[in-house]
Amino acid sequence: MKNTCRLFLCIAIILLLFALPSQCSNSSHPTNSSNSENEYLEKHLPLLKNFVTYLEPNDTNDPAAFQKPWSLDERSFVSACMEQIGAEAPNLVEAIATPSIKIARATKIESQDFQSSFKTIHASTDRLTGTIWIADTFFVKPEETKIKESKKDLVHEIIHLADCGSQFSFSKEWVVFAEPKIGLVQKVVSQNPERMHFELDKEVKKNKIWPGIHASSSLSEALAGCFAAAFCGETFCGSDEFRKIFYAHLLNPSHQRRSWISHFRMGAHYFIDSEYDLAIMEFCKCKAIDRSAPMPEVYIARCYLAEHKFELALQHLLVARRLLDTAEIPLSEPTTQKTYKLLVELLTKANRTTEAQEVLSRFLEYKPVKSE
Ligand SMILES: [Zn+2]
Repeated sequence: MKNTCRLFLCIAIILLLFALPSQCSNSSHPTNSSNSENEYLEKHLPLLKNFVTYLEPNDTNDPAAFQKPWSLDERSFVSACMEQIGAEAPNLVEAIATPSIKIARATKIESQDFQSSFKTIHASTDRLTGTIWIADTFFVKPEETKIKESKKDLVHEIIHLADCGSQFSFSKEWVVFAEPKIGLVQKVVSQNPERMHFELDKEVKKNKIWPGIHASSSLSEALAGCFAAAFCGETFCGSDEFRKIFYAHLLNPSHQRRSWISHFRMGAHYFIDSEYDLAIMEFCKCKAIDRSAPMPEVYIARCYLAEHKFELALQHLLVARRLLDTAEIPLSEPTTQKTYKLLVELLTKANRTTEAQEVLSRFLEYKPVKSE
């Protein structure tokens, strides 16, 4: 019986490992621009010269990304878009520019959707370093919609930065609003396995079901997708409700949210640099701002884990699990899966096998949407 349990735990841990998102463990440093580029920015982009830092390959040290240098044209185009966004949403931009918004270039960016298949996307955000990555495809758009679509892409990433530590997307209020609609889109996709994703995506948007299939891959993608659509004046299922409850909060982040963003960002910075005591202090400041948020607990646990303080890590993970459950964060979320995996590992290590099995069986109840 004991061996069966152990086998059961091992299989589940392997399954959970596959579900983990990759973590970037490198810090980024601002780049030095050449004089002519500085002059250009000074002349044309007075608002953003202090808000945007363009990272060159040497500044990021990220082996996972297909990095490439910026051309002046690309920087000018992104700056022009950011300038417009800054003018339309100054408080949002200011809240996430701590002290600037770091933007880096990559040849190609891929994202995994809820069916675990990879899709090429225009831009993405490294949640830990707070860097926005821009792919080649970002610049390949029809001329007539280029600015609008590019602004939408950037606004989407800006929301990921504003939602750092998933403070917004892991709130119960957001789960209640978004989860049923995410489920609806996932069902549409699973019921039409023969249809191409881009066709379905078009249909989902056209019929105003949701801001797209990508916006159904997780709670944070849903938040970024809804905000970017609302920012561009698009309507979708629940868009009135979204505008009323969420849009204004994100557009004008409160003092509390700004403070959260800067503490979480600092915590992540120390975490990357292996300065765990300082990181824990910052994450504790986030806890003081929002006691219901699970992510500070998750990161404090990860700090203790890195220091091999397993008992402390376990305590914080148990709190994180309770907060994830209270907010009803589904098991489809990578963070929930990762937390469960670590819990099973640490409970097993502490010989708390019954609790480990309980966490595991809860995980195994989860059935991801399948296309067959
Ligand atoms: Zn996104």
